Amino acid sequence: MTITCANMDTIDERLAKIQPVDKDWYRQKVAAVDMLRLDLLHPIISGNKWYKLRLNMKHALEGGYKTIVTFGGGYSNHLVATAYAAQMFKVKAVGIVRGKYETLTPTLMQCREAGMGLIFVSQEDYNNKHEPEWAKKMAAHFDELFIIPEGGANEWGRAGAGLINRFISNAYTHIAVSVGTGTTLIGLRNKISDHQQILGFVPMKQGAYLKGYIAEHVQPEKNRNWDLFDEWHFGGFGKWNDELLRFMNDFYRVNNAPLDIVYTSKMMYGLQQMITNCAFKPDDRILCIHTGGLQGNVSVKEKLDY
Ligand SMILES: *Cc1c(COP(=O)(O)O)cnc(C)c1O
Repeated sequence: MTITCANMDTIDERLAKIQPVDKDWYRQKVAAVDMLRLDLLHPIISGNKWYKLRLNMKHALEGGYKTIVTFGGGYSNHLVATAYAAQMFKVKAVGIVRGKYETLTPTLMQCREAGMGLIFVSQEDYNNKHEPEWAKKMAAHFDELFIIPEGGANEWGRAGAGLINRFISNAYTHIAVSVGTGTTLIGLRNKISDHQQILGFVPMKQGAYLKGYIAEHVQPEKNRNWDLFDEWHFGGFGKWNDELLRFMNDFYRVNNAPLDIVYTSKMMYGLQQMITNCAFKPDDRILCIHTGGLQGNVSVKEKLDY
């Protein structure tokens, strides 16, 4: 089976845009802060998730696989994006979910609505996720399985994320991106110009441990001009407080751009702190990548002005 370009164009990349951030927001301490709005691509298969999935989907379809299997927790943007992408490309999807849920989270409900079969496993069993044999056993009643690792963290995920470089002009000195598995950062580092600094914001405690993994997967000659910042975790992955909510509402009021509570809000918060603390030069130009994830805001919907 061959896949035509048209098949892979079901997401219209022209929906993405680069938007300037309000100058007062960064107190005019740098030459520019712009935001690449990948959240506009699709309400669910948004941001970096589409890029990490697209070459995986292409490979799965070309290989004639019938079922996509992937992994995630109850709030995983990757899981629900995969469910929707599979539905779009008319293949079955199975999600192996970490933890048992008495009631489904909104994310898991959306997975199910998109037709994804959910298999719940204990945290302990979930630790086997890197074993293809285990995943095959879990999803034994489905056939012709194509396994995508958690967070789309494989070579197609990284190569797909690298395609985001088509939006990134050489004029930017710094690229800010949120980091979960590091797949998006790796893909970008491999593709954008060497002189451009990548600032990776990790929304979990001690997230800097990912440096080793990232360094291993970046091409050796590209392994410089990137760094991770993990101090703006707000208590840990998925944690937040009133200050973060206020920040998100302010950002929306000033820039008319909604941030998500897990990743991009913490990135923009940290970036603003760095700018205020003079981490940049006056002629620096920063591009922040809005990696999507807005579906995750349902849990705080009443507290947001958008
Ligand atoms: C998944 C996700 C990330 C993390 O991407 P990685 O490639 O796993 O590092 C960042 N931002 C948002 C909004 C996400 O949903």
